[in-house]
Amino acid sequence: MMPRAFSLLGSTVPVDAQRTIRRQVSCVGIGLHSGNKVNLTLKPAPVDSGIRFRRTDLGHHEVPATVHNLAGIQLATGLARNEVSVETVEHLLAALTSVGIDNLVIELNSPEVPIMDGSAAPFIYLIQEAGVKRLQTARKYLKIVRPVAISRGDKRIALFPSDHFKVTYSISYDHPLLRHQSRTLRITEESFAEEIAPARTFTFLKDVEMLRQNGLALGGSLENAIVLGETGVLNNALRYEDEFVRHKILDAIGDLALVGHPVIGHLVAHRAGHALHTEFAMKVLEETQAWRLVESPADATAPVSVPVATVVPGLAN
Ligand SMILES: [Zn+2]
Repeated sequence: MMPRAFSLLGSTVPVDAQRTIRRQVSCVGIGLHSGNKVNLTLKPAPVDSGIRFRRTDLGHHEVPATVHNLAGIQLATGLARNEVSVETVEHLLAALTSVGIDNLVIELNSPEVPIMDGSAAPFIYLIQEAGVKRLQTARKYLKIVRPVAISRGDKRIALFPSDHFKVTYSISYDHPLLRHQSRTLRITEESFAEEIAPARTFTFLKDVEMLRQNGLALGGSLENAIVLGETGVLNNALRYEDEFVRHKILDAIGDLALVGHPVIGHLVAHRAGHALHTEFAMKVLEETQAWRLVESPADATAPVSVPVATVVPGLAN
C-alpha cells in the first residue's frame, strides 16, 4: 500500500495533492487564425478552482476549461461562455495535464492561445519556469472501470480500464508519409515531455490555400506547423520519424483534459480528430457507470473485463 500522506515542512500533504504553479509566468506568441500577437500569462489558482481561461481584453471574463463550454471546432478546439471565447486550447491543456496542474488561471489578451512552434514543448518550458506547487487537498482522478467507445465511419475512439493513463493512436491518410503510423505510450510527465510535447501540428499544402481564403490559419507558417506537399514535407526536417501520430496523441490528451480530472485508463483512437475527441470527452462524462472518482490511481476498483475487439471491432489494443 502506498502511504496516504507524507509530511512536507511540517504540514501534511496528500500523496496525490492537487497542484498549481508556484509563480506567475508569461510569454508572447501569435494566434494561428488571426496572425495577431498574443500575451499569455499563467497564474496560480486555489484548490478546486480548475483550469480557467480569462480574457483580459474583455473585462476579465472567464471560461472554465470543461466540455460544458465546448464551442466550434475548426482547426483546433475552442471554448466559449457568455459569448466570450478562447481558441486553440488543446496544446496548452495537454502540457498542463502532463505536469498534473489541476488549478490555474490562463490570461489571454486575445481569443487565441498562441500557437508557439505548433507543439506543446514551449508550454512545458513555461510551466517548468513557473514551478509546481502542491496544495492541501487531494486530487480526484477519473478512473475508467468499464469501456466507453464511439465511432463515426472509420474514425474510432475508446477508453478502457487500465492502471495507468496510456494512449494508443493510429492514423492513416492518403499520403506517402502517412499511410500508417501507430504508437502506444504510457503518459507520465517525463514521457510526455520527451516523446510527445515537441511533436508539431501538421497540415496539407493543398488545404492551406482554402483555409486562408476562409480567413483561417493567417498566422500559420513553416515556423509553427509541418506542411505536407504531395510527396514530402516542406519543412527542413521532422523532429521524429512518426511526428504526426505523436502530435495526434498530444491533441487527444489536450481534448480529453476537458473532462476536468486526470484520467486513469487506456485511450485508444484511430483516425480521430478534435471533433471526435471532444464529442468523446462529453460522452465519457455522461457515462457515469463507466468511471469512478478516486483519490489515487491505485485505488481498488473492479474493472469489467471486456475484450477490446468486442467494443471497437478491428481496433488493436
Ligand atoms: Zn494540435
